[in-house]
Amino acid sequence: MKELLLIKLKNHDELDRDDMRFLLETGDQDLRNALMESAYRMKKKHVGVSVYFRGIIEFSNQCSRDCSYCGIRRSNEDIKRFRIPMDEIVEAAVWAHESDYASILLQSGERRDSDSINFVETALKNIWQATNGALRVTLSLGDQTEETYRRWHEAGAARYLLRIETSNADLFSKLHPDDPDHAQRKQSLVFLRNTGYQVGTGVMIGLPGQTTDDLIDDICFFRKMDIDMIGMGPYLVHSDTPLAAEVFDYHPEHQLELGLRMIALTRLFLKDVNIAATTALQALAHDGREQGIMAGANVIMPNLTDVRYREGYQLYDGKPCMDENATQCRGCLTDRVNSTGENIAFGEWGDAPHYVKRTQAVGV
Ligand code: SF4
Repeated sequence: MKELLLIKLKNHDELDRDDMRFLLETGDQDLRNALMESAYRMKKKHVGVSVYFRGIIEFSNQCSRDCSYCGIRRSNEDIKRFRIPMDEIVEAAVWAHESDYASILLQSGERRDSDSINFVETALKNIWQATNGALRVTLSLGDQTEETYRRWHEAGAARYLLRIETSNADLFSKLHPDDPDHAQRKQSLVFLRNTGYQVGTGVMIGLPGQTTDDLIDDICFFRKMDIDMIGMGPYLVHSDTPLAAEVFDYHPEHQLELGLRMIALTRLFLKDVNIAATTALQALAHDGREQGIMAGANVIMPNLTDVRYREGYQLYDGKPCMDENATQCRGCLTDRVNSTGENIAFGEWGDAPHYVKRTQAVGV
């Protein structure tokens, strides 16, 4: 098995489920290193050696949902809720534009009320006006109606990240007791694509009750749903959540390793998508994001949120970079990326080649 796998990795031959299972579970360092090397070569071939910045603005921790793993879920009464004023959001977007980021990500808890929907729509229009439409804007605002996706797209949003969290419907129901409809989440990904967005999704890796086969299913799900962007990371515990009570056997090194292998396998399986080296990797190791890049990721999300608000936006314990302002974050992440031998594609949108190909194919 080992020799065969080494040949497949060297030749970039298609991996089957047994290969993927073996590569996710093996303790063999030769195979592990061959997986990383193969994924990095695949990345160079399909998306190059540039890393794209997406400046993230976590503009509100208000949320109407109660996901069992999340530190800002509705029933957590120990955090102070905030929504950053409109002018500060636009100011952060302008800063990103002037700092040559080319792309930003607006993220918040999930709100479906008309005040929140209107607020986002206005923010998008204001950002468009203030930057002359120069920024690619991604939204990560949870599950919404088709009509809301359409309104936000028309107001200027080009990309949407809606994480499925797991492709296992039973596990999904357990994680989302107040809204267990896995099929609805899948349908939303279809709505997003039909609306014209570049579509992103992702999963948590190393959840209690999650199996290796679930993780393989996750990667197959990304391909089946024709996803353009992947934002996935290791599951990190927030101590003040129901799911934390189910975690008995938690090893940060194992979580990191599993996260890196998932990035590598996803790169090998999907080839030309954008994959983020998420902050969660850095929460597990100081150079976690650099390791993510070397495993095949090509996107990093520097935090643009004013440090005054960061305390209130902790989805998990031990979130890094809590005190670094946007300028410090830019410098730090630039150094980190450069240390891997890659460069940052300042001023470039960095659309996923997968998206470009699929839209050209249908003449969009
Ligand atoms: S994961 Fe998102 S939708 Fe769920 S509780 Fe947290 S912020 Fe809200």
